[in-house]
Amino acid sequence: MNKELELEQENARKNSEIVIIRLPNRLAKREGLLLTKFFNHQGNPLTKLKDLYSFMDELFSFVHQFTPCKKGCSSCCYYDVSISELEIQYIEGATKIKRSKNPKQSSTFHGTPCPFLKAGVCSIYEYRPFFCRQHVALTRTSIWCHPDKCGTGDFTLLKFSEILRSYNFIIRENDNASIFDIRQIFQ
Ligand code: SF4
Repeated sequence: MNKELELEQENARKNSEIVIIRLPNRLAKREGLLLTKFFNHQGNPLTKLKDLYSFMDELFSFVHQFTPCKKGCSSCCYYDVSISELEIQYIEGATKIKRSKNPKQSSTFHGTPCPFLKAGVCSIYEYRPFFCRQHVALTRTSIWCHPDKCGTGDFTLLKFSEILRSYNFIIRENDNASIFDIRQIFQ
């Protein structure tokens, strides 16, 4: 790994500590109780998923100041993008874009653009899957995110344990908990 990437690795590590220290109490508390909330929630899995996304939007509006992620930066749209059956149903219902009748075989899609990437911008941003929402870089620049570079080291990404546990809980509550790559399903 070259010096620039080493520095970025250190930046991401430090930045993740700063985010946790500065996270407003009201958000930290709600994040800590998230799984309990969804466990006791009376709604169906789709309602819970929307609720989780809404909380993530709120949390990430605070995190925004610590990340180089911004509109027009689409490096992570060339990675493998996992999507659950529940999220497929959400996208179909919200956008009226239907899944392919001939899904592709499972494969690695790294380096292939997501079918929803149009002119460098996500065309279903409001309804994008969890994978895309939780991929938040904490490096100073987005240099490491390039699909050719992201495998060169272990870079700290933003992680909130209760968000991840809540997501896993919600998608398993759905009758079908299958996971795909987004390119298998939408073409
Ligand atoms: S759904 Fe949108 S954000 Fe996610 S990989 Fe596709 S284009 Fe990128």
